[in-house]
Amino acid sequence: MDYCDNEEVAGSSPAAPNDGQECKLASSFSDKEVICGFDSHPVYLEKTMTKTKDEIVLIMGYPASGKSTFAKPYIDEGYYYLNRDKEGGTVAELAPKMTAAFNSGERRIVLDNTFPTVESRKPFIDAAKKLKVPISCIMVGATAEDAQLNACLRMIQKQGKILEPHEFGKVGNPNAFPIAVIFKYRKALEHPTKDEGFVDVETMPFKRYWAARHTNSAIIFDYDGTLRESTGDKYWPTKVSDVKLLPNRKKVMQALDKAGILMLGASNQSACAKGLATDVVEDCFDKTNKLLGIDIPYLYCPHRAAMPQCYCRKPFCGQAAEFIEKYNLLPSKCLMVGDMTSDKTFAERAGFNFMWANDFFSKKEKELKELCDSL
Ligand SMILES: [Mg+2]
Ligand SMILES: [Zn+2]
Repeated sequence: MDYCDNEEVAGSSPAAPNDGQECKLASSFSDKEVICGFDSHPVYLEKTMTKTKDEIVLIMGYPASGKSTFAKPYIDEGYYYLNRDKEGGTVAELAPKMTAAFNSGERRIVLDNTFPTVESRKPFIDAAKKLKVPISCIMVGATAEDAQLNACLRMIQKQGKILEPHEFGKVGNPNAFPIAVIFKYRKALEHPTKDEGFVDVETMPFKRYWAARHTNSAIIFDYDGTLRESTGDKYWPTKVSDVKLLPNRKKVMQALDKAGILMLGASNQSACAKGLATDVVEDCFDKTNKLLGIDIPYLYCPHRAAMPQCYCRKPFCGQAAEFIEKYNLLPSKCLMVGDMTSDKTFAERAGFNFMWANDFFSKKEKELKELCDSL
């Protein structure tokens, strides 16, 4: 099984180490490129990082979990860095390289890769034993959902968009990988233990940091069942004349628009994968907007519903990531309004607040105002 595992260092910079033997590093982040990072309090690596001791540190976790960010303080501290994407070849081939580096005088080594299984970690533990050097393991605490959002944000920053399922092979960017890679990792993951031969195993908390430009709030609406219904035989419109607004939508949305609230639309339209033309789908969105009297920027997933392969189908967070990047949203100041569990999960993954459509559109004017003020 091959796990894509190439990551950008997300901009951590350690504070100056003190003069003692122990090197206490705190991570801080510049606000330009950083999209994810350590917990808000400084992360001290004094337990494992020393100036003199020979040691090997193996950093593991989900693809796009921020492993390189955790490796950075070690690299800055002079640790020799081994990473499959840097070295080429397979992960297993790193073990002999690690031995060779140690024997050539590199006494402190840090590796970062996904290392999902006991088997994938064993060659490194065995090699460390032979070298009589302690090896410890750091598990990056990011979840599959955290990794999903990281992967989307990186894709937008690098590729300018969320890639279509068929595009991953073509872009030549090992940072971009299909969502299935994250699911596979979750399935394969065997959590590290000392029993494997590590002297220490630690899980580092993952906390997302948003760059300073992320200041904006927005309300993100689902369309079908939230803003509109269909007068046709499907739950969603298949022609423009099917589009009918649900009660009270126009009034509420007009009021929000007047109040200067940024409103966005996020929709699943898997009918496209079954042959409904995308221009018909877009005409239906445009008709909805026209009925509301507001030109709501919208995104939609045209891909299949069963066995989804894309990042853009809710509850996956591709559409959220696009909005976050494009409008410099601060997710904690955003609200998602929807009618399905997939909308709620989508909101949770993106860090948006969530409200059911029926609750939202039955609010009184005063309540809505208070709600908007709270964003
Ligand atoms: Mg819906
Ligand atoms: Zn999609």
